[in-house]
Amino acid sequence: MVLAELGGKLRDSLRKLQTGGQGDVTKAQLQQILNEIARALMEADVSVKLVMTLRDKVQSKVEHLLRNEEDEEVVTRRHSSNLSKTVQRAVVDELVALLSPGGDVKGAKKVYTMKRGKPNVILFLGLQGAGKTTTIAKFANYYQRRGWKTAMVCADTFRAGAFDQLKQNSTKLRVPFYGSYTEADPVIIAEKGVNQFIKERYEIIIVDTSGRHKQEEALFEEMQEIAAAVQPDNCVLVVDATQGQAVYDQALAFHNAVDVGSVIITKLDGHAKGGGALSAVSATQSPIIFLGSGEHFDDLEPFNAQSFVSKLLGFGDIRGLMDAMNSVSDGKSQEELMKKMSRGEFTLRDMYNQFSKVMNLGPMNKLMGMIPGMPDYLMPQGEESTHRLRKFMVMMDSMSNAELDGKVDLRTKYDPQVEKRIRRIAAGSGSHPNEVKMLLVVHKQFEGMVSKMGKSGIVGKNAQARQ
Ligand code: GDP
Repeated sequence: MVLAELGGKLRDSLRKLQTGGQGDVTKAQLQQILNEIARALMEADVSVKLVMTLRDKVQSKVEHLLRNEEDEEVVTRRHSSNLSKTVQRAVVDELVALLSPGGDVKGAKKVYTMKRGKPNVILFLGLQGAGKTTTIAKFANYYQRRGWKTAMVCADTFRAGAFDQLKQNSTKLRVPFYGSYTEADPVIIAEKGVNQFIKERYEIIIVDTSGRHKQEEALFEEMQEIAAAVQPDNCVLVVDATQGQAVYDQALAFHNAVDVGSVIITKLDGHAKGGGALSAVSATQSPIIFLGSGEHFDDLEPFNAQSFVSKLLGFGDIRGLMDAMNSVSDGKSQEELMKKMSRGEFTLRDMYNQFSKVMNLGPMNKLMGMIPGMPDYLMPQGEESTHRLRKFMVMMDSMSNAELDGKVDLRTKYDPQVEKRIRRIAAGSGSHPNEVKMLLVVHKQFEGMVSKMGKSGIVGKNAQARQ
């Protein structure tokens, strides 16, 4: 994904501030760094207007925090790493604010929370080809897997294949479906389908709408009529990340027609720059709830702005990982772990427990990708990643309590006793000592990140319950 490129560029710019060493940092230097950051964001297709606002905000925040009384032209006389940290923090904060409009913007919307035991009618909108039908299937799959009674209604009578596509998906997923080959009025279909599923006590009723019409006006009129008929609890706009800057205007047009409450961005797995799609948040003042990252039903990731920005800037995605784990774990043990993590503690045993929970969540490669600093060569695809995780767990099964609880440091180099332990673990788990060392590297990266996150206070902060 090209967003990774943006992350790299932002990191490079921030690093330049760090290597400056001791001495004054002038306003001109700060300006230069901010220009670089702005350029990187624009190259990633974030709209010019948004970039300029972000740039100004970062600048005024930094200047305010590090005001130098003696010399107007000097931003700070302190060690320049102070400045680097301040700029970094300001960039992170502003990017997060850009991505989570629930903050201080007037009229901004909060993430819609699904209500248990009640019908949640969710209307899906988006231009044809954006990935709406695919996303609906992923969305249904996501909630059904988590125990929600879910159903789908096809109110797209314009596109001939829409009905069949959705019906096929519904069969594969075993999610009930309502549609009609004969009824031509999408408003009638939507109303009938939704009413039927409400009567049958479905909790999540997803309505697909048409993404194309002979005329644009007719498309928006139809959407408004459907919305009036089914009274949705949330309107989800699906936007295609590959559409670049055009997304902003599309999103605005949809938002002017219907009350868009959430955004899902698709195709972030390809060569999309992503920034344009992120601008959709600003156009609709609605939060992103999921990212689509492939054509399979499992390729849908819950979105959290803080995690996303952390990952973008190379801090890993502990929060995302925690959210994913929270969704399969009992609250109490997770709460204890969060407390430990906020102190920067994370033993091999903690990693073992987390891996075992994560095994229930489906494809592993996404979760492996959230592990901070996870090198690419350790990022296997699909089934292989589950296999790798299982193998790690077998190795940890061969460890003693003292080793699991960090009472013995297995990372001490050139220590014959430690080498002996590693050989024992390898033999006990049918693996090579180098594989055990690989596991220790992963744990070290994990632990390092937890410690950083713990100190920064990100772990445990505004844990967001999505269900
Ligand atoms: P609709 O017209 O908006 O309903 O779009 P479809 O759901 O039919 O999707 C259009 C195309 O985009 C299909 O080929 C999908 O497989 C593909 N697609 C949808 N979401 C994603 C995604 O997140 N990643 C990738 N790579 N392809 C996607």
